[in-house]
Amino acid sequence: MLHACCGPCSITPVLRLQDQGLAPTLYFYNPNIHPLTEYLRRREGLLAVGERLNVPVILPDQQAPPPGEQNAADPAIWLQAMAALGPDMNDMARRCPLCYELRLARAARAARELGFTRFSSTLLYSKYQNHQAILDAGARHAGRGLAFLGQDFRPGWDEGIRLSKEWEIYRQPYCGCVLSEHDRYRKKISLKA
Ligand code: SF4
Repeated sequence: MLHACCGPCSITPVLRLQDQGLAPTLYFYNPNIHPLTEYLRRREGLLAVGERLNVPVILPDQQAPPPGEQNAADPAIWLQAMAALGPDMNDMARRCPLCYELRLARAARAARELGFTRFSSTLLYSKYQNHQAILDAGARHAGRGLAFLGQDFRPGWDEGIRLSKEWEIYRQPYCGCVLSEHDRYRKKISLKA
């Protein structure tokens, strides 16, 4: 099972795993993505990649959540986790590892439930993510019959960009959460001396 953050970041990891004779299944679990319109655009992009590469895509937001849990697309899942950080949520070094943890924990749980023996994440493709923190989160959730494949997909960075453009897959302009969206325009707020 390959946890997928979006379409463009999924292309190279799927191709590399297929090169190795593996048959990945994509799993879209990203309650960090804000707003819902953006979530839906990335989800649509992932479905297009799945179709192109003949790879199944699991959408947990289409399944009834376990008792006491929110729908997989509900941003309250991410917001509740971040609330524990207080003002430190503005620090990417604090919030991003927690964001990976949240997503990979759910992916690992689903992988076990569905009988997969290995899992990984397309987050390992991005040059902009904290690679070591993703590896650490994956390793924490491995075990009990599930291995984490901590493959570095970043050498295929250019390939993923090229193919996503050729295939006209939606390419997002910010990482995903409301704070990363805010960071895009933060410089426009200049305090007057
Ligand atoms: S910047 Fe990206 S990885 Fe970090 S918390 Fe926001 S969505 Fe998650």
